[in-house]
Amino acid sequence: MKIINSVSEMQETVLAARREGMTIGLVPTMGYLHQGHASLMLEGRRHSDLLVASIFVNPTQFGVGEDLDNYPKDLERDMAIAADAGVDIIFAPSTAEMYPSGYQTYVNVEKLTLPLCGGSRPGHFRGVTTVVAKLFGITQPHSAFFGKKDYQQLAVIRQMTADLNIPLKIIGLPIVRESDGLAMSSRNAYLSDQERSEAVCLKAAIDTVKQSFREGVTSSLILKNKALEIISKALSASVDYLEFSDSTTLETVVSVDSNTLMALAVNIGKTRLIDNSIMGEE
Ligand code: AMP
Repeated sequence: MKIINSVSEMQETVLAARREGMTIGLVPTMGYLHQGHASLMLEGRRHSDLLVASIFVNPTQFGVGEDLDNYPKDLERDMAIAADAGVDIIFAPSTAEMYPSGYQTYVNVEKLTLPLCGGSRPGHFRGVTTVVAKLFGITQPHSAFFGKKDYQQLAVIRQMTADLNIPLKIIGLPIVRESDGLAMSSRNAYLSDQERSEAVCLKAAIDTVKQSFREGVTSSLILKNKALEIISKALSASVDYLEFSDSTTLETVVSVDSNTLMALAVNIGKTRLIDNSIMGEE
């Protein structure tokens, strides 16, 4: 496995691979890898001759007061996980390499970025789509792999890719969870032991809501209250949002059906965690 830090070397490498007829896969990450990232890499490996994983903590997607400066890092461990998952190249640029002085171009997807995380993290998706568009330009992938853990992000990236006619396939993959149900996340590293045990409340709320839905409850208000009741038992938890949304448009729905997305963001102490599920899916 090779590490590339420079944009020009990365571009030269993928253009040479393309000339040889190789297919290229990209897994964008912010590092501090876990089995959720590895699942994207393993799938990427199956689809691509040359598999690139990027590790870049993208400053433009962090708001003021968010965890940019404390974001966990462990490049050595990341390299071991990526190598095990079959990655050929780690692209790990510096901030100055990605945003040199004089940088002034941003990509913005409009409607889809307004609700859910877009409401509580203004500017976040503008940073995400900008860096992902740049990574697409730098690595020229045939396929790019994203987790459904960040459901809205995946929807926004699909929209951007279609709207800008970027010729590649976006592949969305299931949420990988710890054995107690907590969705794997680099940010789980911030949790104290007490917070870690309470962090299962996100998945517990999802499970309770889905059970009620299977029993015939379709009112989003009733389901939301059931979820909030579960979360309120976790002393360290405060809800940022908990919504039932159309899984395509992400608009709020009042009556839930099997295609409805339940999405939530909960602060566990100072750590903001997200989770989601489609009501009719396992
Ligand atoms: P991040 O490093 O958090 O920016 O995530 C990089 C990619 O990994 C994104 O496409 C995420 O959706 C995906 N990802 C993160 N956590 C998980 C998980 N638990 N299961 C599946 N994919 C994940």
